[in-house]
Amino acid sequence: MTVTGQARVAGVIGWPIGHSRSPQLHGYWLDRYGIDGAYVPLPVAPERLEQAIRALPALGLAGVNVTVPHKEAVLPLMDEVEPLARRIGAVNTVVVGDDAGLWGRNTDAFGFMAALRAGAPTFDPATGPAVVLGAGGAARAVVAALIEAGAPVVRLVNRTVAKAERIAADLGGPVEPIDWERRGDALGDAALLVNATSLGMKGRPALEFDLDALPLEAVVNDIVYTPLETDLLAAARARGNPAVDGLGMLLHQARPAFEAFFGRDPEVTTALRDHVLAGD
Ligand code: NAP
Repeated sequence: MTVTGQARVAGVIGWPIGHSRSPQLHGYWLDRYGIDGAYVPLPVAPERLEQAIRALPALGLAGVNVTVPHKEAVLPLMDEVEPLARRIGAVNTVVVGDDAGLWGRNTDAFGFMAALRAGAPTFDPATGPAVVLGAGGAARAVVAALIEAGAPVVRLVNRTVAKAERIAADLGGPVEPIDWERRGDALGDAALLVNATSLGMKGRPALEFDLDALPLEAVVNDIVYTPLETDLLAAARARGNPAVDGLGMLLHQARPAFEAFFGRDPEVTTALRDHVLAGD
């Protein structure tokens, strides 16, 4: 697709930015739908963040996605922040309004829930307790999504239990912080298990987790997507649990941003998954 002088332009800011899959993902959709637009990686050092954000309207950008390490730091720079992003405490999408105002959103919770629904279509989060491992940035979005979807309780297991307690306080709702050493006790009647730690990711330590106490119908979702088939997912599938990988969350979280920047809710398809995986 040729980019003309009328093209809408968006991008992703982070530091470093070379690892981001967002340009590949949005670029695929721009081609697929023949949209006159461009989506580019924007390396922004932390000390230049405010300058870069303030320049977005002047440059005529439609908006940017925000990745590590800027997701929390951009929040106070917004003119308006959607309530969910404020509860999560992080912004991953900045939309430039017609009035040049900056609107901060967080689409990770949407992406998590859309991917879970796509990967386990008959599962209803309201039917039973959810166990979430981890209390970092990603876990915040996962917990917010589960509360919104009506989970009766979210057992939030983390090595640093104080971080789980902070999420419980920030998000409100039925969140029960649990110490990492007691993680096995949380599984008994669980309907869902989510790994939102960085354990099991390429280059990180393994997630050592015994699934024996987990009911066989419980859905297991690992939001780590490198590797795509983590040891946790392999163990879950081997004992018969439905398993959902982490790539879906990455793809679905990009949908609301693409729609805000380029005016169309794009589809997450097998061809898109293959395209993104081929970029590994
Ligand atoms: P983060 O803020 O750095 O949080 C890391 C979490 O892992 C914390 O809860 C940390 O516990 C825990 N952890 C790390 N090492 C541990 C260990 N040795 N033992 C026990 N717990 C340990 O990271 P994040 O941004 O939340 O991301 C977490 C993972 O989710 C990453 O692998 C990331 O790639 C993935 N992710 C996927 C998507 C997607 O779209 N699929 C989106 C976002 C993130 P402490 O609090 O005790 O340090």
